[in-house]
Amino acid sequence: MTSLVIQTAFLGDVVLTTPLLEALAARHGPVDVVTTPAAAPLLDTHPAVRRVIPYDKRGADRGLLGLRRLARTLAAENYAVAYLPHRSLRTALIARLAGIPRRVGFAGGWRPLYTDVRARPTRGHEIDRLLALAGVAPSNARPSLCLTAADRGAAEAFLREHGIGEPFVALAPGSIWGSKRWPYYRELAERLAARAGIVTVGGPEDAALGERVVKAAAVGGGRWRAVNACGTLSLRQSAEVIRRARVLVTNDSAPLHLGQAVETPTVAIFGSTVPAFGFGPRGPRDRVVEIAGLACRPCSAHGPPTCPLGHHRCMRDIAVDRVLAAIEETGTLQPR
Ligand code: SF4
Repeated sequence: MTSLVIQTAFLGDVVLTTPLLEALAARHGPVDVVTTPAAAPLLDTHPAVRRVIPYDKRGADRGLLGLRRLARTLAAENYAVAYLPHRSLRTALIARLAGIPRRVGFAGGWRPLYTDVRARPTRGHEIDRLLALAGVAPSNARPSLCLTAADRGAAEAFLREHGIGEPFVALAPGSIWGSKRWPYYRELAERLAARAGIVTVGGPEDAALGERVVKAAAVGGGRWRAVNACGTLSLRQSAEVIRRARVLVTNDSAPLHLGQAVETPTVAIFGSTVPAFGFGPRGPRDRVVEIAGLACRPCSAHGPPTCPLGHHRCMRDIAVDRVLAAIEETGTLQPR
């Protein structure tokens, strides 16, 4: 009988849940997943997933009516077990109202609504913490995505159309949380422009920022081209662009996890959050850039919209030279 996973957190969290999906699929066959409409395309093609059920919790399905509607849909499927990595009341209620007899959740969630309560490790990588829901030991697993031939073709056509050849660097300057945005991507692009092509990646909300970064690359005056893909490519097409890049430079946000899934060497810039939260890169050539010893770090679990102290030193004190040095350490821009 098919298992259900309800994961309606942020895009990056959904990517980090893929090892859990794989572990469950290896036991019982591909699982069904409830997730946000934004994240659904990331799982639509995944071999560990039988069916994706979009749940627009902040839009068309918001409120109790939408929750009950989803619960009715799920009840008709007669799932034997639901895995609930997201510790929200909404997630627990959906599984309970759907009448799913076995509901596996984490301690710290909504115990009375679960039938099986698993301890959530307080340390380690988020991937391993999520795997604990299925009783799987930490394994240094990486997230995974399944990119289609159409995704690859669209990304290749986009790069060709904009004259982006080898080598190129993917820059992901955005983040939902302002305090997690490193403010010097333009200066970085200007310096990199003499050595490689540049593609900015992100969602539609990052398009204006991506455009400014690309314009700065033009100031750099190198022979390489730069193009803004923010909001232009789909998530899977963006992942394919990141896969083709020599290196990804990103904040602590969703593109970091896309980069991990496609195994592109990554320079991750951390400001108001820290890798110890469990969301850092884990590849052998990945590098983290951060300010050590700043007393106010970290200042919240997700990173506040703006610096509560006003100075934003956790990001502003990270010089472009440090990020360039980290790129060098990956060895990815050396001539091949
Ligand atoms: S309080 Fe400190 S860690 Fe938080 S955003 Fe400001 S500088 Fe960064």
